[in-house]
Amino acid sequence: MFPIEKFRSLPTPFYFYDVALFRRTAQAALSEAQKYGYIIHYALKANANEKLLHLLSGMGFGADCVSGAEVQRAIDCGFSPKSIAFAGVGKRDDEICLGIDHRIFSFNCESEQEIEVINELAKAKGVVAQAALRINPNVDAHTHAHITTGLDENKFGINLWQLLDVAKKVKQMSNLKLVCIHFHIGSQITEFSPFAELCAKVNELQEQLEQAGVTVEHVNVGGGLGVDYEHPAENSIPEFAAYFATLNRHIKLRPGQKLHCELGRSIAAQCGSLITKCLYVKELQKKNFVVVDAGMTDLIRPALYGAYHKIENITPQHAAEKVYDVVGPICESSDTFDKDVTLPQTQRGDLMAIRTAGAYGEVMASRYNLRQLPKAFFSDEV
Ligand SMILES: *Cc1c(COP(=O)(O)O)cnc(C)c1O
Repeated sequence: MFPIEKFRSLPTPFYFYDVALFRRTAQAALSEAQKYGYIIHYALKANANEKLLHLLSGMGFGADCVSGAEVQRAIDCGFSPKSIAFAGVGKRDDEICLGIDHRIFSFNCESEQEIEVINELAKAKGVVAQAALRINPNVDAHTHAHITTGLDENKFGINLWQLLDVAKKVKQMSNLKLVCIHFHIGSQITEFSPFAELCAKVNELQEQLEQAGVTVEHVNVGGGLGVDYEHPAENSIPEFAAYFATLNRHIKLRPGQKLHCELGRSIAAQCGSLITKCLYVKELQKKNFVVVDAGMTDLIRPALYGAYHKIENITPQHAAEKVYDVVGPICESSDTFDKDVTLPQTQRGDLMAIRTAGAYGEVMASRYNLRQLPKAFFSDEV
């Protein structure tokens, strides 16, 4: 499936995106969401590559942004400002002003003080900005601790005990209109029960808010649908049908109310691979190492979260298999992609693919050790 001969002339390591798979995945998500009239905002932080963003904006996706630069990138890549949700616990004044100037769909507000600041900045511009309250629903996403966001101990959102006070406060603001309640419980969620639990919480909160005289036109349940890192070839398209059916079964929307979700990883992950070259094979008494030219600077997820990525030797082989630790060149012991990987006997110069790297891969690359940032190549261009 990889164009190996073409890869030989490209400078490793690099990201390779399967554009046909990306389109099929995005289309599958859209079709399933449209069955129920739901709106998808693509979370740019998973992968902000301009070519991929142009594809999504052309298909009719909205955008979910977590910085001013992401808001600008979304607009530059064809997303309508009216489709942009802007989340984040620490929005700077200039980032808020950018959003106000473009009349974005919603500022997903994460604290009382932020609400006051957005109201003041909007007032100074004579604009009424649209706000969503990001509510921390205290739902356990059963995912990695570093990517759980919806528990009381997390920094995100407005906690349940403050909610009614804050909602009433927003209603009194002159330059802020409350249009949405927003939730996001975490990422790489592979069971559907946390989403069902979230919906039940949303239903309960809607009733409480209504009793307090607060109604909203939109409900945004965030992102978090997981992908199959173990079987990228077999499960290349995530379970969108089951995800949206779960939301539909459990959420109680009011007449005319619109449901939004913010998917990042599930749209982008499977279409990307990090392609790297074997530099050296170290065969020691206790361990065999394959040293590759990609490192944690190119793909930090294994080092940061202990995340698993399937590694394949994509150079045609006949030789027997061996067990290796696959490591990068960076001067950190955590610069290990995986341990005890069974691979065909690997040699200097072999090309390897680190799979399911399309989300939270290229966007997290750094220049530590003064390394170059990895380039991106696309299946329809190489
Ligand atoms: C990261 C993030 C998302 C996307 O999460 P995925 O797990 O990649 O789908 C959605 N909404 C918000 C607010 C986020 O921070």
